[in-house]
Amino acid sequence: MTGPKPLSNILEITPYKGGQKLDHGWKLSSNENPLGCSEAAREALIKAAQHPEIYPDGSAFAVRQAIGKKYGIDPDRIVCGAGSDEIFQLLGRAYLQPGDEIIQSQHGFLVYKLVAQQAGAACIKAPEKELTADVDAILDRVTDKTKIVFLANPNNPTGTYIPYDEVKRLHKGLRDDILLVLDGAYAEYVRQNDYAAGMEMAGEEPNVLVTRTFSKIHGLAGLRLGWAYGPESVIDAIHRVRGPFNVTSVAQAAAIAALDDDEFVAESADHNNSELDRMTPALEEMGFKVYPSVCNFLLIEFSDRDGQRAEDADAFLRSRGIVIRDMVAYGLPNCMRLTIGTRQANDEVLQAFKDFAKAG
Ligand SMILES: *Cc1c(COP(=O)(O)O)cnc(C)c1O
Repeated sequence: MTGPKPLSNILEITPYKGGQKLDHGWKLSSNENPLGCSEAAREALIKAAQHPEIYPDGSAFAVRQAIGKKYGIDPDRIVCGAGSDEIFQLLGRAYLQPGDEIIQSQHGFLVYKLVAQQAGAACIKAPEKELTADVDAILDRVTDKTKIVFLANPNNPTGTYIPYDEVKRLHKGLRDDILLVLDGAYAEYVRQNDYAAGMEMAGEEPNVLVTRTFSKIHGLAGLRLGWAYGPESVIDAIHRVRGPFNVTSVAQAAAIAALDDDEFVAESADHNNSELDRMTPALEEMGFKVYPSVCNFLLIEFSDRDGQRAEDADAFLRSRGIVIRDMVAYGLPNCMRLTIGTRQANDEVLQAFKDFAKAG
């Protein structure tokens, strides 16, 4: 009388927990765009929502055309998913089986490990230097069983990145039967000129896949649309394992409009970057350790004095109506991740941090 029993590897999974929200106040726990989304995207989605009875285009043809045009890449080598999250899941389905290994950096994005666990594969973690991916450490961990190397560049939750030269060195050190996934969820925010998302590598190499998303700078996280660009064989494998209508019609319509709204993207990047430049030194002056971020969030490290720990800051900020993200699941229990908010939210955050520091 025990009922059906899930596979043992499934029972080992700790389900992913998204950022929490409050009824009132600021939600700065999920790296969402504080400026909302493109007005044109909102109009497109409202229009598309008039016909929910119609199935979406299963191949997301028009979205892929629009992406292809925007990035100067072949639409036939793009596949869309319900968020880039789904792309990662599909990679697991297509490439991983029990006994296989994936490699990611120590504090890399949590979802990659879940993908490995679902497949009964092992997730091997390569140590970082200063919370930044270390190419040599990753290459040292390659074995005969390695199938995929996942690199979020820049990475969530650390906010750090490695230069394109280092990404190329990583690729050179991998066998060509190992898939290198370059997750560029935050690529649009990065200003540093030694950075590249790797589109060119994904165009040329047989084993490099770039993933991108509409969830972050485009502000469409709730609609779920991500995409991957890479070698024909990898795109083909993803198509074979995806659901036939995996991306909604509303998401497709909004994404096409969002891609066309350069102004909104530029405004979002400008806002983020000027606020990063304002918040980082302000928090440092209060005595907090802030990791250098090229993303739309900051990783803040707290002291281990009573009353000044990460969990104390969490409680204090909540009492001010501000929710940020705890990092226990990432193995960084003394850190919190703060999403860059609106100007007003950030002012309140800075005041709250100041008062918190004083209270200690
Ligand atoms: C937010 C995020 C994504 C995007 O996820 P979606 O499923 O596209 O919403 C992907 N990778 C990283 C590292 C992220 O932080």
